[in-house]
Amino acid sequence: MINSNLLSADKDPMGTAIADYFKCHKADRLRVFSSLFDEDEIPVKELFRSEKQMSLLERTALKMATGKILDIGAGSGCHALALQEAGKDVQAIDISPLSVEVMKQRGVNKVSLTNLFDPRFCDSYDTLLMLMNGSGIIGKLENLPDFFLKMKQILRPNGYILMDSSDLRYLFEEEDGSFVIDLAGDYYGEIDFQMQYKDIQGDSFDWLYIDFQTLSLYAAEHGFKAELIKEGKHYDYLAKLSFQ
Ligand code: SAH
Repeated sequence: MINSNLLSADKDPMGTAIADYFKCHKADRLRVFSSLFDEDEIPVKELFRSEKQMSLLERTALKMATGKILDIGAGSGCHALALQEAGKDVQAIDISPLSVEVMKQRGVNKVSLTNLFDPRFCDSYDTLLMLMNGSGIIGKLENLPDFFLKMKQILRPNGYILMDSSDLRYLFEEEDGSFVIDLAGDYYGEIDFQMQYKDIQGDSFDWLYIDFQTLSLYAAEHGFKAELIKEGKHYDYLAKLSFQ
């Protein structure tokens, strides 16, 4: 089952970092742990990137977003604000009360504390925006059927999803260019993460990185067409998914 809960402030390291950065223009280290990677950090400043500081994939997605837009997992609201400034109609949702409060204070006009997978959430949109490895919130491949079902419920006719992700196969690449992937194991893009900011430790959560081919196969099974819009510099890409 996909998690449809909200976060509480005492278990929300990223939201706390976003709130600190908004208030003081600086933040401590937002630390990221996972069983696959060494300990890492998310530079909190980058969560506040302006449109100019965004990658080409992100800027392409912003240009393509039209009609009534939903920014899913909007964080500090960087994409929602850029869209609003371009005169577009955007609503932002996030499961972090702290991030939602920051978005309100930054001037995001339509913002709500909502989990995408909450069955009570059933408005409809022309563009569903999922950025910064937006496939992550799907969590695991086994959640893709529930994900596509939800997308069908909230997409208007002719609407589409714009999602970025990365193919993690480079992590398994040998020096000779071959790949060592355990086909009997879990899908190689299913990662467990945990974050920490100051003394606030979040619960561990599943985060899905999905290669374009796998995404296309699942999409087709659920009546969606996947188009590769743009590839980034490092196995990352932007996809457009539309209901057939
Ligand atoms: N899109 C932003 C933030 C990405 S981080 C950016 O590009 O900067 C991912 C965000 O998704 C976090 O703020 C997290 O709280 C939110 N999130 C995770 N699962 C979610 C869900 N099921 N529904 C809505 N938001 C979710």
